[in-house]
Amino acid sequence: TQEALVRKEKLYVLGEFSAGLAHEIKNPLTPIKMLIQRAYEQNEPLEGDDLVIVNDEIKRIDKIVSQFLGYARMNEPRIESVDINRLIKDVVTLTKQKIEKSGVEFILEIEELSANLDANADGLKQVIINLVLNALQAMPDGGVITLSVSGDDKHIRIEVSDSGVGMSEEQMTKIFNPFFTTKQNGTGLGLAVVWNVIESLNGKIQFFSKPQQGTKVVVSLPYE
Ligand code: ADP
Repeated sequence: TQEALVRKEKLYVLGEFSAGLAHEIKNPLTPIKMLIQRAYEQNEPLEGDDLVIVNDEIKRIDKIVSQFLGYARMNEPRIESVDINRLIKDVVTLTKQKIEKSGVEFILEIEELSANLDANADGLKQVIINLVLNALQAMPDGGVITLSVSGDDKHIRIEVSDSGVGMSEEQMTKIFNPFFTTKQNGTGLGLAVVWNVIESLNGKIQFFSKPQQGTKVVVSLPYE
């Protein structure tokens, strides 16, 4: 039956995902285990570069697990009436400091929307935060992020653009895959979360990008 098929597909995705997660945790665990074992066997304290590595790798595991928890939680959206303008203000408050510190210019183009959207507020906030942070991380040498929000009576449209490193066609086919990352400290879960939330709201997301020419992300969400 259709239901059995959907269940099978879900189990398959879960299996793939769990394998990926296990792998992502095992990677940083390997050096931690090795360095601690060596200190233990030689009866010497863990210090200097070794200590830095252990500290960094533990932080990495922590980050992966926290993001994973976020991902899991997004699967059970709590739908409520969301005031988009408010939500955008929250996102700006949460990301402003990071953006200012990196010398990137942040432009906001917000149309005051009268209608509220039925959505998972935490999830939607996370979506916009993830897109803004990705835009920021794409511009190590500075640039401009534009966040714009507009709407008609059927859809709300959220756009995040940056003047950063951009992406190749090939790269774009993989960006929603859990654990796909090109960043030194990335987890590759950001856009997997984004995808999940937008999917659960019957929305659409599109990326427009070219290497070295920046990226534009367009999210469209239907009013129920
Ligand atoms: P992470 O940020 O941990 O790498 P994401 O799932 O958020 O995980 O992103 C996956 C990959 O998509 C990034 O590593 C990067 O290669 C690419 N990407 C996402 N957003 C952008 C962007 N605005 N500009 C360039 N590349 C991007």
